[in-house]
Amino acid sequence: MSTIYDPQNIFAKILRGELPSTKVFEDDVALAFMDIMPRGPGHTLVIPKVPARGFLDLPKDVVGPYMERVQTVAAAVKRGMGGEGLTVLQFNESCGGQVVFHLHFHLIPRWEGIALKAPGSAMGDRAEIEACAAKIRAGF
Ligand code: AMP
Repeated sequence: MSTIYDPQNIFAKILRGELPSTKVFEDDVALAFMDIMPRGPGHTLVIPKVPARGFLDLPKDVVGPYMERVQTVAAAVKRGMGGEGLTVLQFNESCGGQVVFHLHFHLIPRWEGIALKAPGSAMGDRAEIEACAAKIRAGF
């Protein structure tokens, strides 16, 4: 099994602007955009700008700055969406549930009694995703 970073992965292409994404946050350290197959309304991904396959591949000096961005975006996701709670997920390697091999944290706002959809269950509605992104941008 290869643990090498593949620069042709989908998120690397999003970072280079070769594929579109619905962005909610960007600076020199991280990019946050909406998941196209959301497990719930407001499902957002935060990726570091450095090439890192999984959490253990992130250079030590980037861990702090990246996690700070994850927390900043998490607050905006919860606030902007009016979430009662927030689920934070991060998967490593196929056996750990990882599908895209560029490090990312999932941020999913939660409400009492509403379960998460299964991973990859359906493409999200584009207008709904854009409406959530607008709320999240207003949550910063
Ligand atoms: P993981 O299992 O942690 O690797 O999750 C990868 C996530 O990326 C899944 O939730 C997918 O729905 C999401 N995803 C895949 N392709 C794209 C894309 N082009 N734009 C946004 N999200 C994507």
